[in-house]
Amino acid sequence: MENIIPFARPTITENEINEVISILKSGWLTMGPKVKQFEKEFSSYIGVKHSIAVNSCTSALFLSLIANDIKTGDEVITTPFTFAATANTIVHSGAKPVFVDIKDDTFNIDANEIRKAITNKTKAIIPVHYAGQPCDMKEINEIADDNNLIIIEDAAHAIGSEYNNNKIGSLNLTCFSFYATKNLTTGDGGMITTNNDKIAAKLRMLRLHGMSHDAWKRYTSKGSWFYDIIAPGYKSNLGDLNAAIGIHQLKNIKDLNNQRRLIAEFYEKELEELPLQMQRLKSNIKTSYHLFPILLKDYDRAKFIEQMKEKGIICSVHFIPLHLTSYYQKSLGYMKGDFPIAESVYEREVSLPIYPNLTEKDLVRITDSIKQILIRKT
Ligand SMILES: *Cc1c(COP(=O)(O)O)cnc(C)c1O
Repeated sequence: MENIIPFARPTITENEINEVISILKSGWLTMGPKVKQFEKEFSSYIGVKHSIAVNSCTSALFLSLIANDIKTGDEVITTPFTFAATANTIVHSGAKPVFVDIKDDTFNIDANEIRKAITNKTKAIIPVHYAGQPCDMKEINEIADDNNLIIIEDAAHAIGSEYNNNKIGSLNLTCFSFYATKNLTTGDGGMITTNNDKIAAKLRMLRLHGMSHDAWKRYTSKGSWFYDIIAPGYKSNLGDLNAAIGIHQLKNIKDLNNQRRLIAEFYEKELEELPLQMQRLKSNIKTSYHLFPILLKDYDRAKFIEQMKEKGIICSVHFIPLHLTSYYQKSLGYMKGDFPIAESVYEREVSLPIYPNLTEKDLVRITDSIKQILIRKT
């Protein structure tokens, strides 16, 4: 059989490898100059005042909630069509996640449903830019303004995505993921971006034990041994080893995202005539093409994934709606049928492999396989 095409594969060059070796030799392995450099370069790429590096997007979301004093008794509105971390972190803050349904064409949270779900306990909205396509941020920002709500954008998929020519992360408090499968990876890692000086300072304090000084200031000649603990903070910082990888990934992000776009354009053209639905992309956005989701029409999803696997092509599914998982059913009383659009999209959805080092041969093999299964039904 031909070689296996995995669902995801990171693009790591000699630059990342050599940088990690030089960090190992430098004697400074935790948060230090490389984290600082990565944050600075990330801010200038996004076009934002502050970037705060953390060890995951999960930590980014959690700290963003805590920094905004979200707590027990509060409600936070989000989509069920997301990864568990989006809602788990709301639970960890003490607040209650309130799910609302998505749109059947963009697969993003439905702004009209957000409006309907607002109560006097609502404190924040977490829109998730599914697959890299930004949510309707004009409408969501208006809802937040009208109701005095905080927005925390889950941009785990959306590094490099744009809304009305602004990069995601340049306006609201935004959380990015550098998990191994994401468009930019540090192995594990995350970033919070904000233009708010006060929130940025609070996030920096919270990510490292609630200390009033970064380790970097403490241990170098620029700082001192003295510190204060001003809150019971967390251990959520990124380290220099990871940041060093991130610095080189960031140098290539335009090219990496561009290669994803070319793959997406190939899929769009090749799959156009087939009985399936693709994500409708709005005209005022740019997507990072983190995922390439297709919805099957009149074909069993599990069977399709199995047949692709038999042809050596690994597909995935994004996401199992959270209101169908046992924790969210037991703790919050959600049931099947609560969010019919998320369920119907989920039942038909398949995520195709999309990453820069897929070859032209791989791509033809993938689209030929899909055609064989859906047209010739073999
Ligand atoms: C990957 C992902 C996360 C979590 O990212 P980590 O960096 O692994 O914590 C959060 N939200 C969404 C939508 C994701 O896809």
